[in-house]
Amino acid sequence: MSKNVFDDLKNKVVVVTGGTRGIGFATVKAFLQQGSKVVMLGSRKETVDKALHELSEYKDTVMGRYIDLNDLSACIDLLKEVLQEWGSVDVLINNAGVSDSKHFYSYEDADFDRVMNINLRSVFLMSKAAAEVMKKQKKGVILNTSSMVSIYGQPAGVAYPTSKFAVNGMTKSLARELGKDGIRVNAVAPGIIATDMVKALDPNMISAMAKGVPVQRLGEPEDIANAFLFLASDMASYISGAVLSVDGAYVL
Ligand code: NAD
Repeated sequence: MSKNVFDDLKNKVVVVTGGTRGIGFATVKAFLQQGSKVVMLGSRKETVDKALHELSEYKDTVMGRYIDLNDLSACIDLLKEVLQEWGSVDVLINNAGVSDSKHFYSYEDADFDRVMNINLRSVFLMSKAAAEVMKKQKKGVILNTSSMVSIYGQPAGVAYPTSKFAVNGMTKSLARELGKDGIRVNAVAPGIIATDMVKALDPNMISAMAKGVPVQRLGEPEDIANAFLFLASDMASYISGAVLSVDGAYVL
């Protein structure tokens, strides 16, 4: 009988930040479908409860929590709870993020901090908490959601591309530093993904956007989830420090 390529993900414990909607929710679902145990993190009780309700068929293998990702002790306490409940932390996916399109001349320092705190500082804190656990396990995978703007920049909302360039830097640096502890670190850089926000746009606008993508469609959240499945699995056991573009060859 042929082996499912992602068999090793069964029973793996996967923590996903920003897991309640969009790319994160598709990722949570994809791992649950592979038999993983998933800790789905969101920013508010209501959104976590709503997402848990949608995943009720997986109620024994999904837990939902809302913590302040900018508080190191909250990150450490969460992973302690996960260890008590499920015995390991095998994969961390730092996906929570906010975008921005405000112009530079009206950009306030608070705008900069808001974006950097969630898109970058939280990646540092959650990775720090998880690496302590993974080092003891001698095995673990950290995956980050970057963006195509981490390659091209963006003509507004300066903190957003800045944070994603930094996520790539952290990915490559931690891959080099943590490899000896059995920890792989990679990032996925999505192009234009049809999350609910994009799907709510005028259909003509969506089809014009799709025509600009060489593969002639926008990305789906599942396209990114599939990349995460691959990078988390043993199929990618020699891949670390990579930033994988999943953008249909789109160039901004
Ligand atoms: P989304 O807005 O649908 O989801 C963002 C998630 O992050 C939500 O679950 C939200 O709860 C969480 N989050 C936001 N602020 C938070 C906070 N302060 N504390 C805790 N959680 C918080 O967005 P999405 O499009 O699914 O984006 C997910 C990731 O993908 C982000 O890192 C984003 O930068 C990246 N990305 C998205 C696209 C795209 O086209 N959608 C393209 C490139 C990169």
